[in-house]
Amino acid sequence: MKILVVEDEEGLREALIRTLSGEGYLADGAETGDEGYTLICTGLYDLVLLDIMLPVYDGLEVLRRIRNQGIDVPVIMLTARSTLDDKVTGMDLGADDYLTKPFAMPELLARIRMVSRRGTGTVTDSRLRTGDLILDTQTYTLSCSNNSRSVRLGAKEYQLMEYLMRNADQVLSREQITQRVWGYDADAEYNNVDVYVSFLRKKIKFVQSESKISSVRGVGYELEASAT
Ligand code: CA
Repeated sequence: MKILVVEDEEGLREALIRTLSGEGYLADGAETGDEGYTLICTGLYDLVLLDIMLPVYDGLEVLRRIRNQGIDVPVIMLTARSTLDDKVTGMDLGADDYLTKPFAMPELLARIRMVSRRGTGTVTDSRLRTGDLILDTQTYTLSCSNNSRSVRLGAKEYQLMEYLMRNADQVLSREQITQRVWGYDADAEYNNVDVYVSFLRKKIKFVQSESKISSVRGVGYELEASAT
């Protein structure tokens, strides 16, 4: 799962990114309202932590703009302000939750788990299902609904598999995949994508799934989910 932290206070932003990475999330940061807005519009993020007091334009304006664009990514507002007005405005604009600074990291992590469970209709408990494939988001285990075989995925394999499953039957470009799995600033070569796709293909075959990752020449890959 990939999280964007929009927070202009560098110390807090870096601490959040460190904590989230330590918990196995992928996290990127943005410093200003417009930078945050631009990154959210890439569609690469599953959840946004959004500060209210930001340079250029504030978090409420970011939220207003993304909801007007029809972007329904879950958003947790972070703010030093604890006024009821801000909270009401944020919720009216479509924030999913609200945390007043200073907050404890375990509290934030609990809210993230709650909001991300609420946000995606396809997650049942900790399991993501697409076609006959089942990905356990806690144990990183891939299995197939038609038999009892399962296989453990490495961290990058898991991130790639989750991304493919959440976007099944859609073509994802190598560039999208690289940004998503290796990070926005990563120099990761596109080759990595091909290598990890080949790992995943072997594992999909091992669990005897009828789903497959197909190559789309010159573009990227697509998970063709089996009929269930
Ligand atoms: Ca701020």
